[in-house]
Order: sequence, then C-alpha cells, then structure tokens
Amino acid sequence: MGAAVDRRVDLHTHTNFSDGRLDPEELVEEAVWHGLSALALTDHDNVEGLERFQAACRQKGVEGVDGVELSCEHEGREVHIVGLFIKPSEAFCALLDSVKRERELRMEKMLSRLSEIGIEIPMEEVPQEAGRSFGRPHLARALVERGVVRNVGEAFARYLGDQGPAYVAKSRFAVRMGIDLVHEIGGISVLAHPGASGLVDRIPDFAALGVMAVEAPYPKHTPEEERKVRALCAQHGLLVSGGSDFHGNGDGRDLGQPPIGYAVLEALKERLAEVRKGT
Ligand code: AMP
Ligand code: ZN
Ligand code: FE
Ligand code: FE
Repeated sequence: MGAAVDRRVDLHTHTNFSDGRLDPEELVEEAVWHGLSALALTDHDNVEGLERFQAACRQKGVEGVDGVELSCEHEGREVHIVGLFIKPSEAFCALLDSVKRERELRMEKMLSRLSEIGIEIPMEEVPQEAGRSFGRPHLARALVERGVVRNVGEAFARYLGDQGPAYVAKSRFAVRMGIDLVHEIGGISVLAHPGASGLVDRIPDFAALGVMAVEAPYPKHTPEEERKVRALCAQHGLLVSGGSDFHGNGDGRDLGQPPIGYAVLEALKERLAEVRKGT
C-alpha cells in the first residue's frame, strides 16, 4: 500500500506546442525527475504535441493522459475548460486549426498595437516554432528579449494584460460548446482554475452546463478557495481534478506542485469508464 499512497499526478501542463517552454520529451523527463506517476498534457487549443508526449511517456514509464485546455467564454469572461482522456477527431483537429490561424492574426494585431505606441517588434522575433499556437506569453518573452520590460510579469502588467494597451481579445468558444466538444471526443470535462478566474461562486452554473470536474488543487488557489471548490464539488456531484499549470518558464508554477495523489486520477478514470459504458 505504501507506494500506492505516495504516487503523485499532475493533470494540467503545457509545452511549446502552445505557450510552454519545453518540448513534450523534456516535459516528461521533468515529470520523471519529480517522481510523478502520471501526467496530463493540456496545451492551449492544441493537441499536436500529444503523439510525441505519449511516445515519451511510454519510453519513460509514465502514465500519460491526453488533454487540451480550451479557451472559452461565459458571460463575457474568459473560462478555461480542460479536457482529459480526449481522443481528438478529425473535425475537432480542423476546428483547432482555425483557432490557431486566428491566434496568429491576433498576434499580428497585438504587434501593430505595440507599434502604435512606439514599440517595434517584428513577427520573426516572437519566439514561436512554425505551425504552433501563439499566445501572449510568446509576445511577453519578445518584450523581455528586446529589453522593453524586465520580465514576463511586467510585460503583462504594462502591455498585455486584459486592460493593457496591446491587448487584443481572442475568439473563444461558448463554455457550453467547450464542454460539449470535450465530451464529443470522449473526454472528461474540467473547469480549470476557478479561483484564478474568479469563478468559484459560479461552479453551480458550470455544473448545470454539464462540466464533470473542477480543479481544486492549483498553485494560485488559496487554501480557502480550494476548500470551497471541494465543498461545491461534493454538493453538485462533480469530481475534483487539479494540476500545476506548469509552463516551464519559472513563473512560480512548478511541475507536480501542489502535490496531488493518484486517487484523484483513479476517480476520474472510474468516471471515464462509466461514461464510455454509457451509464
Ligand atoms: P492567451 O491565451 O494568448 O490570451 O494567453 C493567456 C496565457 O497567458 C495564460 O494561460 C497564462 O499562461 C499567461 N498569462 C496571463 N496573465 C499572465 C500574467 N499576469 N503573468 C504571466 N502570464 C500570464
Ligand atoms: Zn498558458
Ligand atoms: Fe488556463
Ligand atoms: Fe493552463
């Protein structure tokens, strides 16, 4: 029993297929280094890293969970819906392809906003590998490289935050659609970081929209927020998930933190088995 009790999981991470720093292989190596038994890759609106992720997991003996983090919207606010154990269909991948193209256009718009206030950054300086998903963190890094700001946090505070002069909103799925999309591709839907999104009190709304789980352990959640999320989950028949939201950029979100026991994944897998049996 001892070993089983000690097993740890992290069900929310990013690679450089979206706005993380590491390759899928490097992410899995890091998971091994931290002694994690299971790991979910949940890149923003992108599933293209999953194949390499799974290959690396098999090689390193880590249990890999295929995931995604969809940018959604509810009553004008950004809501992130994570899908776990997903099996992306062709239609789903085509949809994400159009999101990716929109993110590229949005990046160009943010660069022209910066240009209007005298900060010239050419597209080539935005550190993203061709064909992957652009996000604001890429632009933040370009601003650091140029010496415009000292760090990523300052880039968001001064230019890229929701109220910042270079901010351009991205198109987002209605949260109901995000949840349905995850279910259509066989996944478990999870409301991501409700505390960080200011949505803890709205958990009953998301339960009504069909979400199956909510992240309770999360680096930016206060103990009080985590307790409240757990209580609401129990009240509304929702499962608990959680993770580090690791991006590999030294922003204080470290892989495997906060520690999450394997029992959390076990419960999600039991639910998945029920869903797939059609109960
Ligand atoms: P985007 O999807 O392009 O709008 O970028 C959103 C991502 O930017 C989030 O998932 C975070 O990883 C990152 N982010 C948002 N706000 C901040 C902030 N204040 N400091 C650092 N990273 C942030
Ligand atoms: Zn991110
Ligand atoms: Fe998120
Ligand atoms: Fe995330």
